[in-house]
Amino acid sequence: MKLTHIKEITGIIRLRSGLHIGAGKDSVEIGGLDQPIIKDPVTKAPYIPGSSLKGKLRSLLETSVFMKNQGTRQAVMNGNPCTCGKKDCPACVIFGAHAAPKACDPDLGPTRLLVRDAPLTPEFMKLFKDGRLPMEVKYENIIHRVNGTAENPRPLERVPAGACFTLNLALRIYEGDSDGLLDWVLKGLKLIQLDALGGGGSRGSGQVVFEDLKVDGQPVRLDAITAF
Ligand SMILES: [Zn+2]
Repeated sequence: MKLTHIKEITGIIRLRSGLHIGAGKDSVEIGGLDQPIIKDPVTKAPYIPGSSLKGKLRSLLETSVFMKNQGTRQAVMNGNPCTCGKKDCPACVIFGAHAAPKACDPDLGPTRLLVRDAPLTPEFMKLFKDGRLPMEVKYENIIHRVNGTAENPRPLERVPAGACFTLNLALRIYEGDSDGLLDWVLKGLKLIQLDALGGGGSRGSGQVVFEDLKVDGQPVRLDAITAF
């Protein structure tokens, strides 16, 4: 398969509410929060891992859009990613098949979308380094169903609302690829705006908006994209 073009999708991810992307148990510091966020090991600055962004893009596209007319319903209903491996399945083409290679169409080709880690924008990185971007600690409780009191408060670390990260995606176009691949990716971004990133989305965390979006340097607007 011949690579004909790499579309570069750039922009800003602006937080409209606090963002919690968990660091996992291994990185808990002694005396630290029990739900810390993921941070760059060198700069200690928060970032959005490409894997988080890619996973969210894929799951939203599969559940909200693809299942209407693609053969992904069974996998999606079971909570699993699509495993069809077919050349006409945008999920498997864009994000890579979750199927064994021999079950895939021979011309499926490599994963088309590279989702890079999203660091703080230079402006917010400067604030962070100057100590002017403190992380937020939010206490989440479980409400006792009978007496209505809040119990077991757990501190949740979040990047504060307003902070901005740098979005960078690369979409590899191979000879014979559908022109529609870019539209699926943009639909995915629109769906993330309607949903959330990271943990606690159903409780208000992780609301984001994509700003200054460009494809190969040309501005694109998500307003014009229909998510469903
Ligand atoms: Zn598929």
